[in-house]
Amino acid sequence: MQNKTDDKHYIERIVSIKEALGEELIILTHHYQRKEIVDLGHYRGDSFGLSQKAATDKAARFIVFCGVHFMAESAEILSQPDQTVQIPDKRAGCPMADMANIYNVEKAWEQVTSIAGEEAVMPVVYMNSDAQIKAFCGRHGGTVCTSSNALTALQWGLDQRGKIFFFPDRHLGRNTGYQMGIHPEEIIVWNPEKNYGGNTSDRVKKARLILWDGYCHIHTRFRVEHVLKMRKDYPEARIVVHPECTREVVELADAAGSTSFIVKYVENAPPGATIIVGTEINLINRLSLENPDKTVLDLHYSLCPNMFKINLINLLWVLENIGRTNIITVPEAIKEDAKMALYRMLALSPKAI
Ligand code: SF4
Repeated sequence: MQNKTDDKHYIERIVSIKEALGEELIILTHHYQRKEIVDLGHYRGDSFGLSQKAATDKAARFIVFCGVHFMAESAEILSQPDQTVQIPDKRAGCPMADMANIYNVEKAWEQVTSIAGEEAVMPVVYMNSDAQIKAFCGRHGGTVCTSSNALTALQWGLDQRGKIFFFPDRHLGRNTGYQMGIHPEEIIVWNPEKNYGGNTSDRVKKARLILWDGYCHIHTRFRVEHVLKMRKDYPEARIVVHPECTREVVELADAAGSTSFIVKYVENAPPGATIIVGTEINLINRLSLENPDKTVLDLHYSLCPNMFKINLINLLWVLENIGRTNIITVPEAIKEDAKMALYRMLALSPKAI
């Protein structure tokens, strides 16, 4: 088992490699990474901020991405041809991203457009998806979104074509749809295991928002009873949650927003405030440490085991093998199409949080 002395040794070696590589290296860390990893990164952010960084940092030859696979893949798509993207552990995937694959998305698209017509449906894909699905969106005129800019992206799609096909997170889709004022009757869920997603053609025709039946098991762990209990135990507290939580939880919270929104919400709270947060535990623990004048509590313990796969040992290992191991690659044709969808996203929200 790793102890504090080992940690110190790994950290020293990582710092010395960082110093040796200087501007040739950039380490990007997602907010859900453990504290020691975030402390060693050059830049921390949510998936939108990190994708912007990957698209704009042209100086570094090596990008080491401390997050899950789809994020590193997006960085690779947006990076320059002479840059190499590496991930400390290639097994760090995202079960939600795996809920939509290109075969069942193409089949669903065929069925939806056979009813509504291709010119009437805009595909919008959550960043939490693999490159093939982003490429599919790019080919069909659609965009990518993150939880920071879902509202802008869905509104854009709706204005263009009147109907959105959104995958894979049905909760982010539904929460955003409600925010846009779409009537619940105009929102349907598409179950890829069923013909026509389990819907009648009339429901598909009338729907303005079609939601893929996917979810994040980390954020759907938060339940109404957790909110009610915290309200009772801390009546003065504010509750903020991520929009990947269920509609019921979001409705009971005081605010809901992306990871970056949550960070700002806590930072902007007045000294002495108690804030209860419904998202990944590593971010909450760090927010608590970084805001010592406030009480920051978790709505319920929920850790993303895939984000947690990145540690000091495998970070050091990729740095010792910089440019040689755990390189993320995306086939050129997929890259080009996926890039179109990602660029549309960046153009839609250049100043998103
Ligand atoms: S928190 Fe949820 S959406 Fe994010 S990487 Fe983990 S499983 Fe995927």
